[in-house]
Amino acid sequence: MSDETPICSAKGCRAAAVWVLAWNNPKIHTPERRKTWLACEEHREHLSQFLGVRGMLKEVVTLPEWESRAGES
Ligand SMILES: [Zn+2]
Repeated sequence: MSDETPICSAKGCRAAAVWVLAWNNPKIHTPERRKTWLACEEHREHLSQFLGVRGMLKEVVTLPEWESRAGES
């Protein structure tokens, strides 16, 4: 029950997140804005496709990399 363990964003999935999907919806967000979904190994492709077909997916990085970036600057 630790809130330090990020959980996959896929509906109904309780697996620990491994990936961060950074996305932006140009219809409602300014270009530099980044929304994020978390994904476990199993759901990374599914969630990436969901965003990709809508032209909203910007990048997919591992959670440790994302967090290390957030720590900078
Ligand atoms: Zn999942």
